[in-house]
Amino acid sequence: MYDLIIIRYGEIGLKGDNINDFISQLVSNIKRATGDLGDFEISTIYGRIFLYAESNKIEKIVDRLINVPGIISLSPAQRFRIGKKVADFNEQDFEKLKSKVVQLFKAEVRNYPTTFKVETTRADKSFPMESPELNRELGAEILREIEGPDSPLSVDVHQPEHLFEVEIRRGKIYLFIRREAGPGGLPVKSSGKALLLLSGGIDSPVAGWLGLKRGLSLSAVYFNSPPYTSERAKEKVIDLAKVLSRYGGEIKLQIPYFTEIQQEILKKSPRRYTVTIMRRMMIRIGNRLAAMNNELALVTGESLGQVASQTLEGLRSSDEVAEFPVLRPLITMDKNDIISLAKRVGTYEISIRPHEDCCTIFVPDNPATQPKLDTIHFGEEDLEIEKLIDRAIEKMEVITINEGAE
Ligand code: ATP
Ligand code: MG
Repeated sequence: MYDLIIIRYGEIGLKGDNINDFISQLVSNIKRATGDLGDFEISTIYGRIFLYAESNKIEKIVDRLINVPGIISLSPAQRFRIGKKVADFNEQDFEKLKSKVVQLFKAEVRNYPTTFKVETTRADKSFPMESPELNRELGAEILREIEGPDSPLSVDVHQPEHLFEVEIRRGKIYLFIRREAGPGGLPVKSSGKALLLLSGGIDSPVAGWLGLKRGLSLSAVYFNSPPYTSERAKEKVIDLAKVLSRYGGEIKLQIPYFTEIQQEILKKSPRRYTVTIMRRMMIRIGNRLAAMNNELALVTGESLGQVASQTLEGLRSSDEVAEFPVLRPLITMDKNDIISLAKRVGTYEISIRPHEDCCTIFVPDNPATQPKLDTIHFGEEDLEIEKLIDRAIEKMEVITINEGAE
């Protein structure tokens, strides 16, 4: 039924060259997200992106595009060709158009009773009928064709449940009735590269998604502590990275060997400071990896006050060793809001699978919630920090994850 998808993006705050960069990045992300489904013709016109495809592929493509950051909304649409000249649009053409409109309406509107409205945009002024007239005539045709004893369908010009849109542009009429929401935000890769500290929990995948949505491209690091953590825990992180990759393209997942570091901390540092020092070690490894990958920031799933280590003192102690800005997209969010976002993004069900966290195993009963920098420095004195990091990275496993374009 459909032969194209009309894709809308936000332009607020974009000017001049920025717009073109934004659009070409978005187009290339769209191609990437749909690449395994086919090589589709894409044009950028009228402040939107048109993607042309065979009708049997349209729904699959829609499913992909609703997850592509930068897209605000999209509509599968049908193109009606008028013929030689728009001005020649005649009675016969109009009959054909009416039947197309009714066909599309019937296919998409299934639940009655309901209300609708037809709205025409006549960008091509050579088209012989005016918008109000078209709205009226097409609306009347739909009402005539949908029959029922209790008049299951009526027009509501203020708050219709279905808005049937008709756009007339350069010899073509576009018909659409559906609008699917995209994630909004900026196209992935339009804001540079960052390293996501990705655990198997609920928070960090959401933080990663928010980063992607602001245009970051991500690689990820997962600190693994075998044999204290299982293969299943790692699989879970891989599955989470796959979901993120659906939105953000290829993600390199780096899995340093964290066991030795944790054992050393446990052996050589004050018990109440192990969590703080462990987090600093994560950040330090993050520094190294980010530098290796030319990334300019670290991203974590921390939220202020959520757990003992996420106090201002805890964040300060991490930031003290960070060589890059640490982005914390969830910092002011409540757990419930993070959970709803995780559900929407599709990571929640994976995140709640049971697994041993590398860190909970080593967590003391009463970790310091207000770690003092002096005490931390003292607690780190016996650690051969650089050597430990070298070894964790030497034994690092790297997995390239590329969902959506296999
Ligand atoms: P999450 O739900 O993301 O696991 P959390 O609420 O469990 O977060 P913490 O355990 O304090 O909080 O971790 C804070 C952040 O540190 C995480 O959001 C994540 O970015 C990072 N982090 C924690 N553990 C790991 C790990 N094993 N590998 C990679 N990053 C980690
Ligand atoms: Mg966690």
